[in-house]
Amino acid sequence: MEKDESLAEYREKRDFRRTPEPPGGEERVGQRPIFVVQKHDASQLHYDFRLEVDGVLKSWAVPKGPSVNPHNKRLAVPTEDHPMEYAAFEGLIPADEYGGGTVQVWDVGTYQNISEKNGEILPAGQALEKGHLDFVLDGRKLCGAFTLTRMAKRKGWLLIKRDDEHASRVDELVDTRPESAISGRSLDEIRSGSG
Ligand code: MN
Repeated sequence: MEKDESLAEYREKRDFRRTPEPPGGEERVGQRPIFVVQKHDASQLHYDFRLEVDGVLKSWAVPKGPSVNPHNKRLAVPTEDHPMEYAAFEGLIPADEYGGGTVQVWDVGTYQNISEKNGEILPAGQALEKGHLDFVLDGRKLCGAFTLTRMAKRKGWLLIKRDDEHASRVDELVDTRPESAISGRSLDEIRSGSG
């Protein structure tokens, strides 16, 4: 899908004269693909998990946030593609706008697609179409291997930590590291414009 077509739903839902969110469209070159996890205190608190695929941020709303415990399968509900610039967005969306509430960049970094088919790397876009993406995160907080897998006959996906040296059965990073990965601010500090 073309990038502008892919972002049509995102733009349709927003009035960019009113929200500080970016409309998107800037080109980005080279580098490893990025991921971002945004804590979003909207009508219901959730985490938005986003992966750069083919020039846009593929997005899922994860109600409980990502877990580093391989036993905790996290529901991830697909949402509209977001523009690349959204990865740096932290701030307030006006209450009467789509997604109104506070957004914090909870984690950000790069990732490596390790999805395979017949012993070769399957491009991330194709892996998502097939409903199964294996990837390794290199973030400020989240590191190591994860899987996103689409549930059969259901709209939802599952985000699962794979067992490696970055897995933990004791600590959940969403609890122990609540601060912003880019500003160090808490959600409350972002909301009140302090910190
Ligand atoms: Mn959200």
